[in-house]
Amino acid sequence: MLIYTKITELQAFLRLEMEKGQQIGFVPTMGALHQGHISLIQLSKKDCHLTVCSIFVNPTQFNDKGDLARYPRTPEEDTLLLEQSGCDVLFMPGVQEMYPTQNAINFDFGHLDKILEGKHRPGHFNGVAQVVKRFFEIVQPHKAFFGSKDYQQVMIVKALVKQMNSPIEIVACPILREPDGLAMSSRNVLLSAEERAIAAHIPRLMQQAKELFKKEGISAAKRFISEQTGHYPLMRLDYYEWCNANTLQILSEKEIGTNAVSLIAVFVGKIRLIDNLI
Ligand code: AMP
Repeated sequence: MLIYTKITELQAFLRLEMEKGQQIGFVPTMGALHQGHISLIQLSKKDCHLTVCSIFVNPTQFNDKGDLARYPRTPEEDTLLLEQSGCDVLFMPGVQEMYPTQNAINFDFGHLDKILEGKHRPGHFNGVAQVVKRFFEIVQPHKAFFGSKDYQQVMIVKALVKQMNSPIEIVACPILREPDGLAMSSRNVLLSAEERAIAAHIPRLMQQAKELFKKEGISAAKRFISEQTGHYPLMRLDYYEWCNANTLQILSEKEIGTNAVSLIAVFVGKIRLIDNLI
């Protein structure tokens, strides 16, 4: 696996590969890699000739500086995992390399960045769009792979490529889960043993709420989640909503269709976890 930290060096290599007609797949990450990330690498390898993974803990998408300071960083383990997965190129730029100037861009994604994560983490999606745009301009991949665990993020990125008039194809990949159902996340390692056991209730409660949603509707499902998460002193519900899975408009009781997604954000201790269920 080739490892680059400098944009010019990465681009010199990629230019040669593109001249040979190689299709480039790109997997952006913030490191502390787990099998969820590796599943994206595998999908890219299946689809493309060459897979580029980036590791960059993007400061501009953290509205909570404590969260940024706490974010796990495991570069040696990440490099090993990527080597083993057959990833071709690892790009690990520093903050100066990514943001040599302080010019922030203000994106407008309509309602998409004003609800759910956008509402609860002000500025988060602006930071995500900023870093993804920068990476897309640097790497210029044919396809980019994103996990559906970050459901709203995938929709933002799809909106971004439209705004950029970019031909990059955005591939939404399935959520990988631990054996007990908890969605894999870099933040899971920050949970204590007690918090980790409690976190396992999140996907179970979401499944139960989905059954309630089908029988009794949105209010019953929301009431259930609010009551159940309230039973655990270490849990604090940030939001739980049902949305149209295509538009991410928040659904009301009258609008229930067949294509709906439930999305949750919940603190377990200090750690904020998200998940979703179609
Ligand atoms: P992150 O390092 O958390 O920014 O995630 C990098 C990419 O991996 C994003 O596209 C995430 O949606 C994706 N990802 C994170 N966790 C999972 C998971 N459990 N299953 C599938 N993809 C994931």
